[in-house]
Amino acid sequence: TKTLHIIGGGMAGSEAAWQAANLGIDVVIHEMRPKVKTFAHRTGDLGEMVCSNSFRSDDDEQNAVGLLHWEMRAADGLIMAMADRHRLPAGGALAVDRDPFAQSVTQNLMDHPKITVQHDEITELPAGGHWIIATGPLTSEGLGQAIAQETGRDALAFFDAIAPIVYYDSIDMSKAWMQSRYDKGETEAERTAYLNCPMDRDQYEAFIDALLAADKTEFHEGETANYFDGCLPIEVMAERGRETLRHGPMKPVGLTNPHQPDIKAHAVVQLRRDNALGTLYNIVGFQTKMKYGAQSSVFKMIPGLENASFARLGGIHRNTFLNSPTLLDDQMRLRSRPHIRFAGQITGVEGYVESAAMGLLAGRLAAAEIMGQPLPPVPQDSAMGALIHHITGGAEAKTFQPMNVNFGLFRPVEGLKGGRRGRVHRYKAYTDRAKAAWTDWLATQNMSCAS
Ligand code: FAD
Repeated sequence: TKTLHIIGGGMAGSEAAWQAANLGIDVVIHEMRPKVKTFAHRTGDLGEMVCSNSFRSDDDEQNAVGLLHWEMRAADGLIMAMADRHRLPAGGALAVDRDPFAQSVTQNLMDHPKITVQHDEITELPAGGHWIIATGPLTSEGLGQAIAQETGRDALAFFDAIAPIVYYDSIDMSKAWMQSRYDKGETEAERTAYLNCPMDRDQYEAFIDALLAADKTEFHEGETANYFDGCLPIEVMAERGRETLRHGPMKPVGLTNPHQPDIKAHAVVQLRRDNALGTLYNIVGFQTKMKYGAQSSVFKMIPGLENASFARLGGIHRNTFLNSPTLLDDQMRLRSRPHIRFAGQITGVEGYVESAAMGLLAGRLAAAEIMGQPLPPVPQDSAMGALIHHITGGAEAKTFQPMNVNFGLFRPVEGLKGGRRGRVHRYKAYTDRAKAAWTDWLATQNMSCAS
């Protein structure tokens, strides 16, 4: 049949349904709420915002998430249209009146002649047909088990343990240096895989004090489970003993600081390259439940990171997500069962906007496939393209963790100044280039709209 089935009517599933239906495809949304609940959702509405009511920055010239807003609006996205309709005053951010927003999303989908909504929980992987799985970070247990059986347990996570990610060009390389422990690594890629920041005894002791004193967040009620295996928050390690970190992620062995070859560091913070472009580095082993404000100030105590800009801060959350770089192709299809696409947070993006964006792409890609008119690749220079490229190919598969959209995912624009000073021009160049690429891509899709 030519019907598209979508499991999950959240941010991604709602947008995917809207896009495919507007291209003339019959769509069935399977949403388990309100019959089956999650710990975070409160209603049976489609497109419910589970926590904050913010779509973050709406600046489409200087901010990557604002650019994503722009691209979704250009593609007639439902989530953005309803967010704009129910916008609340919030300066440069796009804050949303959450209940009317979700009610409007629901109403638009229910009223669409091509869309049917069924309230049922799906617990098996579909054997045939056209499907998008957009069941989000709180995918129900039955379906989670079915996915894990297909992908292997190691390729589906139920918690994220996110270490902070730093923009390479904000790291002070007069203090930090590149070296793999024991100089392992022969190729250029291996030699640039790790960056090191040294600490002397006083710096280490002050750092431990700051970790112990920092404000931490609690788990949401119902969220806790056995997350401790292999991903203890650094502050919990510090609580276990002042030397624990120095014998764990901050051990100083196998490294020589070329800036001070005669002085043995007391501890070393290591950062690992996070993308093929080499624009992002994550702080190894630094998953944390510290509040965001505390993280920025504590991590800036690390020599070399005094002026660090963070592409994202750390966290630990209940979060079902795939190892997309190994499991999905560049059209978001499951390689082992290409009739199934994934979209939204379960693909390893993070955030309402990013989830809706991946739904928008999945809906269009699925519709084009059903119509027998495959689309050209999503342009990597658009925000959509940078994000899908990251999760399906650009990210390191071994250490894959969910990602927000950010300019570190974009290919550099040649001939522009790096560092902080060039930032305004650089971001404007990224967003100009992205808008042109996205507009061109949309123009290839003047597909006949059958509705
Ligand atoms: P969802 O919006 O969760 O949609 C998935 C849908 O699938 C749900 O409606 C669910 O009921 C349904 N479903 C699940 N399993 C099945 C099944 N087997 N059969 C049928 N239906 C099923 N992002 C932010 O930008 N800001 C925040 O403040 C924020 N806070 C968060 C707080 C929590 C507690 C969590 C868990 C996540 C948070 N996120 C936040 C992250 C993420 O952006 C949102 O969860 C976002 O809603 C993800 O969109 P989605 O479409 O992938 O999943």
